[in-house]
Amino acid sequence: MSLKLYNTLTRKKEEFKEIKKGYVNIYSCGPTVYNFAHIGNFRANIFADLIRRYIKYKGYKLTHVMNITDVDDKTIRDSKKENLSLKEFTEKYTKYFFDDLKTLNIEKVEVYPRATEHIKEMINLIKKLLEKGYAYKADDAIYYDIKKFKEYGKLSHLKISELKAGARVCQDEYDKEHVNDFALWKFWDKEDGDVFWETELGKGRPGWHIECSAMSMKYLGETFDIHTGGVDLIFPHHENEIAQSEAATGKKFVNYWLHNEHLLVDSKKMSKSLGNFYTLRDLLKKGYSPRSIRYVLMATHYRQKMNFSFEGLNAADNAINRLDEFMAKLDNIKGDRHNPKISELIEKVKSDFEDAMDDDLNVSIALSVMFDFMKKINTFIMNDKMSRKDAEKAIALMYDFDSVFGILKKEEKKEEINKEIKQLIEKRQEARKNNDYELADKIRDQLKEKGIILKDTKDGVRLEKITTSK
Ligand code: AMP
Ligand code: ZN
Repeated sequence: MSLKLYNTLTRKKEEFKEIKKGYVNIYSCGPTVYNFAHIGNFRANIFADLIRRYIKYKGYKLTHVMNITDVDDKTIRDSKKENLSLKEFTEKYTKYFFDDLKTLNIEKVEVYPRATEHIKEMINLIKKLLEKGYAYKADDAIYYDIKKFKEYGKLSHLKISELKAGARVCQDEYDKEHVNDFALWKFWDKEDGDVFWETELGKGRPGWHIECSAMSMKYLGETFDIHTGGVDLIFPHHENEIAQSEAATGKKFVNYWLHNEHLLVDSKKMSKSLGNFYTLRDLLKKGYSPRSIRYVLMATHYRQKMNFSFEGLNAADNAINRLDEFMAKLDNIKGDRHNPKISELIEKVKSDFEDAMDDDLNVSIALSVMFDFMKKINTFIMNDKMSRKDAEKAIALMYDFDSVFGILKKEEKKEEINKEIKQLIEKRQEARKNNDYELADKIRDQLKEKGIILKDTKDGVRLEKITTSK
């Protein structure tokens, strides 16, 4: 089966087709770094990580970009409260954000562009919009004229013809009750203090929405494959990104728009403004493990609202314990009573897992496929119907799944990978000894795919790790 994704633009599950064969470009709206991210934000990050990991699992190469919003209304407001320069303030929270991503085993993406480092690109984009008549200058800002973009509203399904003309909104965040022209470039006022750029469009700072248009197109091109974010970003943020980008280039901006539903607390969105949030650090302090937190945020399908609860977190703890016990049991199997049913089972389970994930990343079903597999293997183990070789096959499958889930214990994984790499290197040495250079080269390529480069020196083989994740 091929990958199907639910596209907010068409409100349909569509078959995924990449623009450039074998290569996928993804943009995910990242954090506004004015505070600790809460676990609702991390639901969005874990969803973006899941799609990234599954795209890789399917064999695509990718470039994934996640912006860091380090200048906007909120960062300016709160840096003043903390008496720090905007840079000191945002760097502090950016670092916390990266630490938290690591704790949650969220893979690093290829590029994390910061808004303050892309002012030139934003100015160029705004200039284009002015030239083409999609933007105009007012006293306090340069605005986007939404009436000029005929398709405005196509993502959030708004009826622009029913709106009053001429109303404007300068602040970055607003709701559907305030569908108005929005600010692209905000002229300096004294509230901004020392936060401004002197540019050919005047002294000021960018609006939030232009940041994402400018940075995504810089790294991924004028049309790219996938854009992700939480449902709260559909309007106005993503609607405005489309309006800005498509008006400037005359091309379709993004093929697949993917939005994760919210993490709720007592049926309300977890958010900083409502104060009903937990940070990752709050939960770690209470003794929960990062793996259980990752599990709980990942295990519900991304398009379903999910209530956060401590019962849910305790259930995730149990699931993680079961996983650990299972992996430990497999590790201890020593026998040689081969069971042909295991290969058959593995093949079936792998295909069920892929069917679930191909169906708009149905992670809940994919997880139940894995737990079902564990149950069946446990029965084989109990009846002593498994050899070491069979166990290794089962372990390899678990790691295949985990390249997507990211919930197994890390040390075990490393050991397993090292073991596999060691075996490949030995096999290659053997092939060279037998003058089978074709096989030796094949193995060298296999290792390269795993991020290991072999250098043959006169003192033997030397290993080099490739550091980029591409
Ligand atoms: P922010 O830092 O508020 O701009 O949000 C960063 C990301 O987190 C965006 O993609 C939001 O849509 C997402 N987000 C914020 N709150 C929640 C929530 N309660 N549940 C899921 N995603 C959220
Ligand atoms: Zn964005």
